[in-house]
Amino acid sequence: MQILTNPADSVAAETKSWQQAMRTAIRDTKTLRKRLKLAPDPAAASAAASFGLFAPLPFVDRIAVGDESDPLLLQLLPTAAEDHSPTHFSNDPLQESAATLTTGVLKKYMGRALMIVTGACAIHCRYCFRRHFPYSDNSAGAAHLEKALVSIADDNSIEEVILSGGDPLTVVDRTIDSLFSRLGAIPHLRRIRIHTRLPIMIPSRVTDQLVQTLARCPLEKVVVIHTNHANEIDADVTGGLNRLRSAGALLLNQTVLLKGINDHAPTLIELSKRLLSAGVLPYYLHQLDQVVGAAHFEVPLETGKRLVGDMRAALPGFAVPRYVQEIPGEPNKTVLA
Ligand SMILES: *Cc1c(COP(=O)(O)O)cnc(C)c1O
Ligand code: SF4
Repeated sequence: MQILTNPADSVAAETKSWQQAMRTAIRDTKTLRKRLKLAPDPAAASAAASFGLFAPLPFVDRIAVGDESDPLLLQLLPTAAEDHSPTHFSNDPLQESAATLTTGVLKKYMGRALMIVTGACAIHCRYCFRRHFPYSDNSAGAAHLEKALVSIADDNSIEEVILSGGDPLTVVDRTIDSLFSRLGAIPHLRRIRIHTRLPIMIPSRVTDQLVQTLARCPLEKVVVIHTNHANEIDADVTGGLNRLRSAGALLLNQTVLLKGINDHAPTLIELSKRLLSAGVLPYYLHQLDQVVGAAHFEVPLETGKRLVGDMRAALPGFAVPRYVQEIPGEPNKTVLA
């Protein structure tokens, strides 16, 4: 066994570990079903062709073997149900094309600009409202990054930049670090927010270098993770979250309310408790965006309101997320309950 003593080597090893998990992610339904001892499902072929499966092994390891209805599995498994969407489900339910400040920068809400750093994610969530988003034209990556930074620097009304995607933490630490130093030098910015599922999907993504980048940045830091079920949060995930917190980041979580996954009061209550134990405040519970392919995940609004009522009765106020929906044209996300 080789012992790593040179700090540059250990940085390389850390980076290799999460990048390796990205490279070895399962990308076809057959392999995943076989690994989880599930019978083949040829009917899911068209769903898988329209939005490919992407499942990193550290997350797959948290899925129960032999259980078709595992709440983690359902988030990423292509199924035939995706082929049936009512006509009011659309490809661009949030009408984001209208909010583009420059390529890769959306400015929908006062004071906040959302930067699409990359189109890549560490999971393909079957209910994702961005599953039809034309990333190749709209991401701020590489060629567009410079223009995106200039447009943010030129707009004094922007106090907060939200690094989003896709998942911004799929890009390498060097790029994140340079983004942070460029953004940190813009005088009117107070805050950088990262919207990411990577610390959940691949906990080793929280590298020392990433932690250092955050710790060094003079701006306020907020990391918004995305978990839908308590089973996603194991000891490795909690370790990564603790490292982010040690870098001075405020940790928040968003959840999407999903039929068959978390539309059950005890499940949502347990998720909030698990988040608190990991140092994360529940922020948003999202009503599903009506995107083509996701209709079978929709929970009726009345059910959602009842579930939030049940959470409120069982949890401290700060552990109850705001139940929200994004309605195109509104100045903020709309609170439903
Ligand atoms: C959701 C969102 C934000 C952030 O909204 P908050 O309510 O501050 O979390 C900012 N920009 C865009 C384009 C968004 O979709
Ligand atoms: S991580 Fe976020 S952007 Fe990526 S597929 Fe999931 S919901 Fe969509």
